[in-house]
Amino acid sequence: MEKIAKPRGTMDVMAPEIFAWNYIERVVRGAAERCGFTEIRTPTFEEIGLFKRGVGETTDVVQKEMYTFTDKDGTVYALRPEGTASVVRAIIENGKAADTLPLKYFYLINCFRYEKPEAGRSREFVQFGCEMFGAPGAGADYTVISLADSVIRELGLKNVRLHINSIGCPKCRPKYREALVSYLRAHRDELCDTCLDRMETNPLRVLDCKNDSCKKVAQGAPRTIDHLCPECEEHFAELKSYLDACGIEYVIDPHIVRGLDYYTRTVFEFIAEGIGSQSTVCGGGRYDGLMEELGGPKMAGIGFGMGITRLILAMKQNGVEVPALAVPELYIAAMGKEAAVRGTKIVSELRRAGINADCDIMGRSLKAQMKYADKIAARYVLILGDSEIESGRAVIKEMATSEQTEVSLDGIADFLTGKRG
Ligand code: ATP
Ligand code: MG
Repeated sequence: MEKIAKPRGTMDVMAPEIFAWNYIERVVRGAAERCGFTEIRTPTFEEIGLFKRGVGETTDVVQKEMYTFTDKDGTVYALRPEGTASVVRAIIENGKAADTLPLKYFYLINCFRYEKPEAGRSREFVQFGCEMFGAPGAGADYTVISLADSVIRELGLKNVRLHINSIGCPKCRPKYREALVSYLRAHRDELCDTCLDRMETNPLRVLDCKNDSCKKVAQGAPRTIDHLCPECEEHFAELKSYLDACGIEYVIDPHIVRGLDYYTRTVFEFIAEGIGSQSTVCGGGRYDGLMEELGGPKMAGIGFGMGITRLILAMKQNGVEVPALAVPELYIAAMGKEAAVRGTKIVSELRRAGINADCDIMGRSLKAQMKYADKIAARYVLILGDSEIESGRAVIKEMATSEQTEVSLDGIADFLTGKRG
């Protein structure tokens, strides 16, 4: 029969890689909950208009990367390319905007973008993200950045640096835009076709283009931080004072503009030095106009998205080993059918008592069972045969030390919990 392969740019994750995924998921959930964020789960697909309006018609994500389909009733949906627009929609739709502020949500979701797959870039990827709404001050920017920072620290990523920038607000943007458009017009010969199209409608997007020639143009472009209004200047200064006071190092990086339209003021990325082109492990910023743009009340917002596969790449590069996962504490090697049943009973009782234990269910020879115990890295092994069942006592062997202890078959749980210390 002909085999069917997974779709291009998707992944099958299983042991041992899944241990790293599980570990990271535990770390991010713990960190988010310690900062007072609660989880939010939204649909995997939404009406396409949500992303067109929320992410922006002229962004790469909407113009080139969305997976869309028409439902049987004619509605056009898109698989979510990111998490923020859905969170905002959910807040509005569920009346959460009237809750005590700030609203703080986090999510661990799969996102879909039609991109050229490479290391750290896939068509379905998992993002850890957080959103805070209703807090316009720089303390909110700091809180969100510090959450990302604490995850990065806890994962042991030493080569990751925080880059920050401010891209201004609707008040200071027009002046900047003028300066940028006239610069881009002077460099129109060096721009790709997409950028030629969008330089008049949305010139900021040109600065985020992945095309090499456009990137060079972007390097020499006027900088948003040189065009900020006094309020945006003050906000940016305040954020820096929070970061300085709390000991989070950063570099000011005027080239960060972020790929989505909704950003205002603070934008930031955590960039791993030396993992190639997919080095941005986390990207985020402020979006004070987004809630209103999607039909909600005027409410400041800030958040980030962090790609799990990029965290894994960075962990590998930093030589971070995933802490050992639960291994079986006890493996019972059973000799004969009666012993297999008794062994299974003991294992069931141990599992009920919260102990990870296993017993042969394959009818293997004793030698093969010992080999299996070794493969699953069981900490203790107990051989159960007719004489052990008769006497009610058996020998438990600690595999690492070969130390042997005789125990009562009723006292195995006590022995193992005693050894846990
Ligand atoms: P990039 O510039 O690398 O394309 P982006 O600006 O499109 O990133 P965001 O929309 O800000 O990315 O998404 C936040 C994070 O999600 C990124 O920093 C990255 O870690 C992760 N991410 C984005 N796209 C992908 C992808 N196709 N595959 C894996 N991870 C991704
Ligand atoms: Mg992208």
